[in-house]
Amino acid sequence: MIPFNKPYVTGLEQDYLEQAVRSGRLSGNGIMTRSVCNRLQNITGASNVLLTTSCSTALDMAAILSGVGHGDEVIVPSFTFPSTANAFVQRGAVPVFADSTDLHPNVSADTIAHLITERTSVIVVTHYAGVPCNMDAINRLAGQHNILVVEDAAMALGSTFNNKPVGSLSPLTAFSFHETKVLGCGEGGALALQRSDLMSRAEIIWEKGTNRAAFQRGQSDHYEWVDIGSSFLPSEIQAAWLMAQLKEAESILNKRAEQWNRYYLSFQHVLPDGFALPVIPENVHHNGSIFYVQCPDKQVRNYLISALQRAGIMAVFHYLPLHSSKMGQKWRSDKTCNQAEKWSDTLVRLPLYHTLSVQDQQFIIDQVVLACRHSVN
Ligand SMILES: *Cc1c(COP(=O)(O)O)cnc(C)c1O
Repeated sequence: MIPFNKPYVTGLEQDYLEQAVRSGRLSGNGIMTRSVCNRLQNITGASNVLLTTSCSTALDMAAILSGVGHGDEVIVPSFTFPSTANAFVQRGAVPVFADSTDLHPNVSADTIAHLITERTSVIVVTHYAGVPCNMDAINRLAGQHNILVVEDAAMALGSTFNNKPVGSLSPLTAFSFHETKVLGCGEGGALALQRSDLMSRAEIIWEKGTNRAAFQRGQSDHYEWVDIGSSFLPSEIQAAWLMAQLKEAESILNKRAEQWNRYYLSFQHVLPDGFALPVIPENVHHNGSIFYVQCPDKQVRNYLISALQRAGIMAVFHYLPLHSSKMGQKWRSDKTCNQAEKWSDTLVRLPLYHTLSVQDQQFIIDQVVLACRHSVN
């Protein structure tokens, strides 16, 4: 069976783990964490980066920093992972679900514009498949209405919009290093801050609501409880693993782009009518997180997945839209998210991981073309 995903081990992990162990200090915010954050600052162009235990907890931090409270409205995409909404719902906010665009699963800025009310305090966007949303339009809207933008960039490390890296486009951006992402350390994440005034509070929230980070730098002779917070920082062990991956980031991302392009070029002009390939805007560079094929309908989608499974290939669909989920229905309004439902029904993700061989990928390509042709005959 060709799996859908396989976490990549660069071979440098052992060395960095040993370094971490030798440092004699495994708890968070040590030497390894700080060098990882420096590297992430370089990649993202953010003014500060805090390493977290996951993208979900980075979003939790963003939600606290946003200051949302009971009854505030937060616009979130329907087509995203539950964490995007959870972080804000936990603060008492009301999620208002925004639909995807027709051409891409990313949230539609026009839809967001129609959902803004006096109660809207945050717009959260998800860069699906590592393809940045239209941040010009979203930042413009947010600016007009004085609303904070938070990006769920779990899949988008290394992507750019108008040549600017994701992480530098809005005040708060959350990344994931879960093993299913392009770079990973099992479980992990980061919060990138692009507004220096948010950093001192962020650091406190990160360290269980204490000023311990400042104390560690010698800026205070003691540390104490100063705000709300939790233990959002990973240990040096995770940081060490991530350091190895970041060392190899360039070659990992290049390989990914090669594999993504091989899929794209092989399917172009070959799939029957009704099937579609990802549409990538021109002002965007994406990191090849996910390759998907869009099917004409759910029935064909199911057929394609089972045909591939019979051929020994694991292909999978993706999100069930949040607006119609068991939890999301608690806030159900009369608004529908037809495009989110369409993407949920029609998208099939193909295996994509660093060690996927050219031969295996060619086999997948051939089987996809066969199954697609067969499905319409
Ligand atoms: C993977 C993912 C998450 C969750 O990331 P964790 O690091 O596992 O918390 C959140 N949002 C999106 C869009 C994701 O792809």
